[in-house]
This record gives sequence, C-alpha cells and structure tokens, in this order.
Amino acid sequence: MNERVAMLRGDAVYRVHWKLGTDLLVGVCHCGAEHDSEDPVELWDWLLAHPEGHRPPVAAPPPPDRRPAGALV
Ligand SMILES: [Zn+2]
Repeated sequence: MNERVAMLRGDAVYRVHWKLGTDLLVGVCHCGAEHDSEDPVELWDWLLAHPEGHRPPVAAPPPPDRRPAGALV
C-alpha cells in the first residue's frame, strides 16, 4: 500500500492529485490503482469505471505469523 492509498478512508473514495508545475492530474482509486491524465473528465471517467482498467499494485501476502488469530485461510 502506498502513501496515497494510506490516506484514504472507506471503499468508495477517489483522490485526484495535481502534479505541481505540470498540467498532469493523478487519479487514485480506492483499490490503489493510479492513472495519469491532463484531462479531468477522462480521469473521472477512468475512476468511475472501476474496476475496468484498474490494476492495483500487487501487495505481498502477509507472512503467516502476521495474520489475525482465527482468520480463515
Ligand atoms: Zn479501482
């Protein structure tokens, strides 16, 4: 999980970051996928199309000793 996703709350939260000094916007989906665009409409279309075209960063599975007790595996 990266820093941008860590800021999110809930499972339907989207963020749009503006890269300072550029016209580039970075959309971050609640699933962790990111997409760059200069066009806010295109960016929101992508965000709202979740999960279509979304590839969240692959997270390594937690080591066995970090799983909560009683978790079904
Ligand atoms: Zn998504």
